[in-house]
Amino acid sequence: LEVVAQVDPEIVEAIKGELQRQRTHLELIASENFVSPAVMEAYASVLTNKYAEGYPGHRYYGGCEWVDVVEELARERAKVLFGAEHANVQPHSGSQANTAVYLAVLKPGDRALGMNLAHGGHLTHGSPVSISGRYYNFSFYGVNPDTGRIDYDEVLRIAREVKPRLIVAGASAYPRVIDFARFREIADEVGALLMVDMAHIAGLVAAGIHPSPIPYAHFVTTTTHKTMRGPRGGIIFTTREYAKEIDKAVFPGIQGGPLMHVIAAKAVALKEAMQPEFKRYQERIVANARALAEALLGYGFNLVSGGTDNHLILVDLRNKGLTGRAAEDLLARVQITVNKNAIPFDPEKPSVTSGIRLGTAALTTRGMDNDAMREVARAIDLALSYGADEQKLATARGIVAELCRTYPLYPELP
Ligand code: PLP
Repeated sequence: LEVVAQVDPEIVEAIKGELQRQRTHLELIASENFVSPAVMEAYASVLTNKYAEGYPGHRYYGGCEWVDVVEELARERAKVLFGAEHANVQPHSGSQANTAVYLAVLKPGDRALGMNLAHGGHLTHGSPVSISGRYYNFSFYGVNPDTGRIDYDEVLRIAREVKPRLIVAGASAYPRVIDFARFREIADEVGALLMVDMAHIAGLVAAGIHPSPIPYAHFVTTTTHKTMRGPRGGIIFTTREYAKEIDKAVFPGIQGGPLMHVIAAKAVALKEAMQPEFKRYQERIVANARALAEALLGYGFNLVSGGTDNHLILVDLRNKGLTGRAAEDLLARVQITVNKNAIPFDPEKPSVTSGIRLGTAALTTRGMDNDAMREVARAIDLALSYGADEQKLATARGIVAELCRTYPLYPELP
């Protein structure tokens, strides 16, 4: 950072502070990860200088011969990795990807059906505070109160009642496998289109560990920065039939010039995801989530749905006498970073909640294994089960410090 330091020491201080924070804390936020140095280098490149409205071969600006190469590589790799007929790699984020699909297939006021935010859905799946809920008429399905799992018969019942033009499957806080074939049956039965937002599980899907939505959904959206371990951004997959509509909805529908440096970093991440190590990495993420879940159950924590099939765990803290907000704060005191999260049928407000969401993608990137997960669970228990006993908190901090030393982050950076 020597060059930036000469221009802007305040920003350098913040970047260094953030690197130190990432190195010395256990990152359990399920939507976060650590990109490779290769992804970071592509991101921090001269591609940021280039305007490239349009698509490869059809741009509204001159001088696009090299950015065309970049976008073509990203598109092709995305298509091959996920087995899709068409990919649009330009969405600046997951929210942009979802908004573009809505713009492509819905008119304002059209009916749609998504997963309840409080049951694990995402804001962009129809929340009234998001453009999705303001412009479109969303109804919601959720999970069964006894099993914590999506009740597909109930989804069908609601879909028959609502007759949506679009059904949205996918979630931000759902620890179980989603049955995309069943969602497609439901969509077909009520004459709806199906969109799957696989943002959280895209890495697992790429590695063949979670069933792919591509054969079933008319549209699949994703972020590239969660289990995919790429730069922050989005991708939309669709069939040849809808390719033009989707491309038009992204640009000029909701975006201007694509972020070519981000698209280059997406291409690098997609190439990394095509390597055999990536499959092993994703397998380790899931094995670590299971190990963490089992250890937490052993400490008397309740988990929504009783466990996990993927990279994340939703802890119901009510039997520990803690809110999600209190638990997030306590864990922050021992350098464990999590987010409070609503649990299904949560009696608390969204700003308080009764749960925390834990994900293992980032710690797995640091090289942590099942034994390390048991240590993480011990530190979580020490922080949450003993009423903020200072000695227990100190022991938890010691466990965290030891794990951070044993599994260093970005050792190649100063
Ligand atoms: N979709 C799902 C399922 C998500 O969990 C998220 C992010 O948390 C998004 C979309 C939005 O992604 P972004 O933050 O890139 O807009």
